[in-house]
Amino acid sequence: MQYVVMDLEWNTAYARRYGSFINEVIEIGAVKLDKNFDIIDTMSVIIKPQIGKKLMGRVKELTHLTNNDVLSGVTYSQAIKELSDFLENKDSVLLTWGDGDIRVLSKNNEYFCGTNHLDFIGAYADAQKYCQSFIDSSSGQQIGLSSACEKFGINPEDFSHHRALGDSLMTVECIRKVFDSQKLAKYIHKCDDSFYERMNFKSYVIKDINSPLIDKSKFKCVCDICGGKVIRKNKWRFVNQSFRAEFYCPNCDRNFRLCVRFKQYFDRLEVKRTFSEINTKENIKVNHK
Ligand SMILES: [Zn+2]
Repeated sequence: MQYVVMDLEWNTAYARRYGSFINEVIEIGAVKLDKNFDIIDTMSVIIKPQIGKKLMGRVKELTHLTNNDVLSGVTYSQAIKELSDFLENKDSVLLTWGDGDIRVLSKNNEYFCGTNHLDFIGAYADAQKYCQSFIDSSSGQQIGLSSACEKFGINPEDFSHHRALGDSLMTVECIRKVFDSQKLAKYIHKCDDSFYERMNFKSYVIKDINSPLIDKSKFKCVCDICGGKVIRKNKWRFVNQSFRAEFYCPNCDRNFRLCVRFKQYFDRLEVKRTFSEINTKENIKVNHK
């Protein structure tokens, strides 16, 4: 069993083929570790961009990479070959801080190699999810790498932050603070077809009121204050990502609006119902159900 912690730097570039922007990988950094999470080896490779010829100002500022630096880089395919050799075999577990990097790599692979499957990766774990499970965070917000370092008493200035190898080493230090192979094992996913399906699934809001995915009972409405019967004043309309209708409660003598939003994720449908007053000029959100 060995682990490889990876980090990427990327440049945002317009991909004519897609008619949209893509995060083009310009640097891969990685650290190889043994079963006790002791460092065995490191790698770092710069990729010459093919889609965006010039680095965005923000990217240059953040990474301190220059256009000249990336000009001397290798092709995407060469860099992937290096990474694949570094991983050695499919028993290695790849880790990244958050799933952004693996998503971007998958997208780049689709662009350059015609498949979003990274066949050289056998298993994957999100280091951020793992580390966050040791940090008390009631907000539920995902913690950034520098903030995690601070929580763990690691000085981010000891690393070249926002460079691929530096960020990989920072991630390694965070994991080392809380490393427990059995606990980590629960975060490891096999990179099979369903892994990529889940990763590439784009969540979306359902706009068609007749969609079979919609549970019509979610449109049933009683007054959110008195619980009494209400009168619907108009038809359900789709506005601002949700279906909405206005109601009148005779018992409370008040008008209110109910917004119902259906959002489809890979393996669940999220339903959000929001009541708001419509007597006042501003619609003050009063309740979530
Ligand atoms: Zn009422």
